Amino acid sequence: MPLLRFSDWDLLPSIQTAIDSQGWENPTEIQRDAVPPARSGADVIGQARTGSGKTAAFGIPIIERVEAKGTPQAIALCPTRELATQVCEELRWLQGDCGLSILPVYGGTDLEKQAAKLDSGVDIIVGTPGRVIDMTKRGHLDLAAISILCLDEADRMLDMGFWPDISWIVGNMPERSQTLLFSATFPQEIIDATEEFLTNPVTVMSEDLEVEVPEIDQKWIRIGRANKLWAAGRILSHMGDEDQCLIFCNTKRMVELLDERLGKHRFECSTLHGDMSQNKREKVMNGYRDGSVQILVATDVAARGLDVDGVTIVINYDLPDNPEDYVHRIGRTGRMGRSGTAWSFVGREDLLQLDRIRSTWNLTIDQAEAPELPEGVKRDPIRARMDWSESSDPFGMVRISIDAGSSIIRSTLQLSDWIMENAKVKELAIGEILISDDNTFVDIHSESAQRVLEIIERREFEGQRLEANLAIR
Ligand code: AMP
Repeated sequence: MPLLRFSDWDLLPSIQTAIDSQGWENPTEIQRDAVPPARSGADVIGQARTGSGKTAAFGIPIIERVEAKGTPQAIALCPTRELATQVCEELRWLQGDCGLSILPVYGGTDLEKQAAKLDSGVDIIVGTPGRVIDMTKRGHLDLAAISILCLDEADRMLDMGFWPDISWIVGNMPERSQTLLFSATFPQEIIDATEEFLTNPVTVMSEDLEVEVPEIDQKWIRIGRANKLWAAGRILSHMGDEDQCLIFCNTKRMVELLDERLGKHRFECSTLHGDMSQNKREKVMNGYRDGSVQILVATDVAARGLDVDGVTIVINYDLPDNPEDYVHRIGRTGRMGRSGTAWSFVGREDLLQLDRIRSTWNLTIDQAEAPELPEGVKRDPIRARMDWSESSDPFGMVRISIDAGSSIIRSTLQLSDWIMENAKVKELAIGEILISDDNTFVDIHSESAQRVLEIIERREFEGQRLEANLAIR
């Protein structure tokens, strides 16, 4: 079957011209399936992730059905201001010369200015729920006149606690005649909402969307807190000019700390988190979009809606608390056929969470070592540290292996006495000792382990030099 082309659709000429000048030829899967029913006026439920082309999937039908008359006729609700800005920008170019006034309405911007813009006449609104309600209550936005509602990234809005706001907005739209709902996942609340808000909807489920994960390599590295920076250094040292890296942390504080630490090791980064002013955020996003920023350290919420095709590396510096965030994070690599790698740093306490993420989405995430240094590079950009706490058992003991067996170490008492005397550690810091023919294991409390290792290597035991290492268990 020949590939469907936009020109097969007989679109409004100004939209077709805009699409042509953008260089788009074929609709994406979600566009192919959602645009025709939405153009005919039907309600549509679309399963789609960021990067699937969903914006145009609702943008094209909305633009076609709205007239330039200065009264709001359609509203798209988005979870974040970043996504709202992005959707707004896409609708603006997509309309070509239709002359529609399309306005973003989100918090964090000047209320008065936004109100004035709304008062001067708008056709399409793209906004976040809170500010839309605010503007409605202040009398600058007449929801009652709007006939088309689009909920973009409905699952994210649910996650972010916007559901009561959305119900309020829907409840204040008596003239609503068409509703389009896009979501990557369908938790029960969303399914209930589709039954409540939509009438005889056409459901467009993406085939590859049992898991909406792009074709990218997903790897995890077993690593404790102390050495995450080292591993990040290894990964970043492989970046070429064309690569862009997005590093996720779970807290704003960690974003700032990591930015500072990487900066010290001459990795120039920018940051994105919720405490930054809208202005600053937009600046950073633009820098990342135009490629002048290569490494971006961000929290989940701040990076929502960040739409960059060039992301080739995602690092989960912290594993996300919510399995859905994992998919949202890595969904940013490998867009539009580009290849990418997502690395997750997994400490002992994260192993369960990794399992949860894997099983929620049925993902293949392979365990890997941090990459070797690039050829010709001799020194690590960031040095590794002994990470005793990551290697210790729940009682804080780490296991040390010694390359000497029962012919040299004749009894556990002999070894523990020697350690206590030479390394000056207390008896309690020494745990189990296992002596076999060729080697010996001794458990030492993590606080004393470094000292014991050094002493075993430096001093002779019964006239012999021994080698000791941290044992992996
Ligand atoms: P979205 O999922 O709407 O955020 O779109 C992801 C990216 O794909 C954006 O940069 C769009 O501009 C781009 N895009 C959307 N539809 C198409 C298409 N049919 N052909 C080429 N690029 C597209």
